[in-house]
Amino acid sequence: MSPVIGGCQCGAVRYAMHVDRVEKPHVCHCRMCQRATGGLFAALAGCAKSKLEWTRGEPAFFASSNLAKRGFCRDCGTPLTFAYDTPEARIYVTIGSMDDPERAAIEGQCGLEGKLSWVAFCEEVPGGVTVDSAAAAEFYAGMKSNQG
Ligand SMILES: [Zn+2]
Ligand SMILES: [Zn+2]
Repeated sequence: MSPVIGGCQCGAVRYAMHVDRVEKPHVCHCRMCQRATGGLFAALAGCAKSKLEWTRGEPAFFASSNLAKRGFCRDCGTPLTFAYDTPEARIYVTIGSMDDPERAAIEGQCGLEGKLSWVAFCEEVPGGVTVDSAAAAEFYAGMKSNQG
């Protein structure tokens, strides 16, 4: 299989995910993802950070909270990545920025606490809320949003 490639709308930033299959393709309905993308949800698919190569340019990053950074093209603003700062975490790229988004059919949904009442989207795909366990509650309890 060829790498999963994509980039921003102006072409200044291009990436290659050196994987046969993306990991955890999903949408997140949480308010932070809505605001970060300007969309109704974020659509994201991941790979190990070491498997993502910037093949042209590099994104700028905004620390949307003290726990995660979001990459975007500084020239055209296209949202490109989401990653937690934890060292073992994978990085996610926005499915819409892929040259072939068909390679990232979503398998899950999260952030359902923020899902808009009038969004009927892939209703059969399993999903959950952001804080769905004691471990998640502890992790997010320390979160400080940098969104204004
Ligand atoms: Zn761009
Ligand atoms: Zn989210």
